[in-house]
Amino acid sequence: MKSKGQALCKICGGDAGDLLIESIVGEFDTYDVFYCRHCGVGVTTPVPTHEDLIKLYAIGGYREKTGKRFIPFVENFILYFRHLRKNRIKKYVRAGRILDIGCGRGLFLNVMKDAGWEVAGVEFDEATASNAASYYGIEVISGEPHTWKFDPASFDVITLNHVLEHIANPKELIQSCHRLLKDGGLLVVAVPNLDGIQSWAGRKNWFHLDVPYHLHHFTDKGISSLLSAASFDIVRKRHFDLEYSPFGWLQTLLNISGVEKNMLYTFLKAPRKGIDAIIAASKKDLLLILLLVPLYTSLSMVLSLFESYIAGRGGIVEVFALKARPDDTK
Ligand SMILES: [Zn+2]
Repeated sequence: MKSKGQALCKICGGDAGDLLIESIVGEFDTYDVFYCRHCGVGVTTPVPTHEDLIKLYAIGGYREKTGKRFIPFVENFILYFRHLRKNRIKKYVRAGRILDIGCGRGLFLNVMKDAGWEVAGVEFDEATASNAASYYGIEVISGEPHTWKFDPASFDVITLNHVLEHIANPKELIQSCHRLLKDGGLLVVAVPNLDGIQSWAGRKNWFHLDVPYHLHHFTDKGISSLLSAASFDIVRKRHFDLEYSPFGWLQTLLNISGVEKNMLYTFLKAPRKGIDAIIAASKKDLLLILLLVPLYTSLSMVLSLFESYIAGRGGIVEVFALKARPDDTK
């Protein structure tokens, strides 16, 4: 099955030997995804260099200067989704101190701050971190986990929302989360599900594959064993997310139908990117999008609900896990 290259699994240190998805054209290179059966995790190969990663995430590339990424209509939905996330967390922890790792522009942390939480963020891109800090007046730092100056056991909640798949060493990051959480504290990790039905239907056309931004590709088994190995107790899993699941299907179906890859997503970007993309698009692609979006929108919702609630293989996995208290008996 292996035709070229080898990939090292950063989680077990072994060989990710199965070539799962081949020849994905992305920025800088053509990539493959190898799969480590032991860990249930896909590995993007070749791994982008440090310099390439800096270019990928630089302001203007991944997000705009204010941190806004989409047109106002979409931004309103995003704010609503951040309130839903707050409500899910409050079922486990009513109030306290929260760390959002990969906090971007800090929108979610600002929602938590308004709800009375003490908030802190980590953003790997320095300029985005400093914008978030000045825009919302919240504490946002940048840099690798070993440089963070947070006290151990100082957070009630840590969130990693669609961040872990971007990280070169996910195991180290999860261990850092464990160290920073108080006993009984909550970790919430959401990732795209490599083993979901939309992933299998799309393969290299799957919207949430997002190579080379995503260095790792987790399955339900993969993310669950990573958290369990770091001494977390999993208390809840979600496979459906209104923000990620239906749009994942919609954009994947458009990609499969031959529209230029991820074009609808690019159209929704703000402020000028979307307009520039519409102007540059071919008439064929514009016509296909106009015809197919109405058709695929309800289909995407039905497929998302089916894959999540009936098949149990949704487009994403969100895991809620508690750091065991010392007196918890196993
Ligand atoms: Zn492995």
